[in-house]
Amino acid sequence: MGGDEKMARTSAMSGFHTLSPSERLRIVSEFAQLDDEEAKLLAKAGGLDMDTANRMIENVIGETQLPMGIATNFLINGKDYLVPMCIEEPSVVAAASKAAKLAREAGGFRASATDPIMIGQIQIVDVADCAKAAEAVMQLKDELMHMLDNIDPILAKYGGGPRDLRARVLKTDGGCMLIAELLVDVRDAMGANAINTMLETIAPRIVEITGGRSLLRIISNLATERMARAEAVWKKNVLGEDAIRIIGRLSGEEPARPSAALSREAFGEQAINDVLRAFWFADHDQHRATTHNKGTMNGIDAVTIATGNDWRAVESGAHSYAAISGRYRSLTKYWKDRDGNLHGSIELPLAVATIGGATRTHPIAKIAQKILGVKSSQELAQVIASVGLAQNFAALYAMATTGLQAGHMKLHASNLAVMAGAKGEQIDKVVQQMIAEKNISAARAKEILEGM
Ligand code: NAD
Repeated sequence: MGGDEKMARTSAMSGFHTLSPSERLRIVSEFAQLDDEEAKLLAKAGGLDMDTANRMIENVIGETQLPMGIATNFLINGKDYLVPMCIEEPSVVAAASKAAKLAREAGGFRASATDPIMIGQIQIVDVADCAKAAEAVMQLKDELMHMLDNIDPILAKYGGGPRDLRARVLKTDGGCMLIAELLVDVRDAMGANAINTMLETIAPRIVEITGGRSLLRIISNLATERMARAEAVWKKNVLGEDAIRIIGRLSGEEPARPSAALSREAFGEQAINDVLRAFWFADHDQHRATTHNKGTMNGIDAVTIATGNDWRAVESGAHSYAAISGRYRSLTKYWKDRDGNLHGSIELPLAVATIGGATRTHPIAKIAQKILGVKSSQELAQVIASVGLAQNFAALYAMATTGLQAGHMKLHASNLAVMAGAKGEQIDKVVQQMIAEKNISAARAKEILEGM
């Protein structure tokens, strides 16, 4: 692997998982043209020095670490991406890579993102007539917008800035209040600080106009004007062939389906029908939908964290958007086309940045962005949406084929083997024997190890 230029630029890397961390790092460094210092920083546990950490938050005494894995195979809008993911949960990186590999056979992901427009809110209370106050704000909209003309020259230089202002009446248990909303194109920033400064600038004038009192002035994390979308196709034959492989690999275990003799087509059809059933379950049942969306967020959060972005902002926006119809639903959708292939799509607000916050101050986040090779916040949002879709598909597909349990069993067995004291090659041997014997327990792991 690596070698000539063409090989180095594809993210389809078979056997990547069999390499050592340092071999993987060499390949990623070549792919993303990391310099020696960057590669060294990644290899050394914890790239964040205490001085930087101490500047990031308060009362610093240390730092924690997460592993960074690379999801391979991502082809998004025709461009190859190696995706850095920071997460403590096993199987996530492997599952994303696999879903991307299967989607690649139909051209990968097609993704898009709207302009990066965030909404800032000003709450005006103690207003005598809320409807009249809202009207008064709208009448002075031009004046209020002009107040923001030179507020963020850097943002303006990159083509961003305030875009619109609206006002509405909110009826609450505590009486009516006026909510003014400022829409700002924040370009490559997340926008929280940039928008908050703008809200502070116009709030006093709104108070004058309305005769009320301004209380909260803050960005909304439900970024409905900053949406990312991604779509992919998983072909029936590709899934069928893969399902047969999985069942073969797990031979020694009961096949998940009694229909092991089915053709590739039939296997694919069954997998697709079951993925659809799993999706409908989630889309109509809130208890299932919460877990279904958690699976999607496994991917979304892992890239959000790797790139130094505010994952709480992304999380709250995603779940809020999932309930925007009044019912908490799946963030992804699935359907079958006339040829029986599976289509998946995702749509959610994604306020992620390539500048501001920790995206540039955290040295590892900076390197993660370089590995991704994203040029804008919109491109980053497209990648993250694609990873979310891949992650969700991988979970549904795993459950629909061999059952998540079988995959997890192997992992569980390997954890037990390590706990029993197995090292290196011993781990695989203990795992294989426990699976073949269908006796996966701490006691058996110990016995097998002792007998070696
Ligand atoms: P920031 O304060 O660093 O501001 C970004 C600034 O960078 C812009 O105002 C602009 O002047 C400049 N800039 C330079 N190049 C740019 C480009 N290409 N595109 C856009 N701007 C460019 O960052 P921010 O995004 O305003 O704030 C993000 C931080 O705020 C995060 O750390 C987040 O956790 C935090 N925060 C979040 C919330 C919330 O989510 N509710 C609330 C408060 C603070």
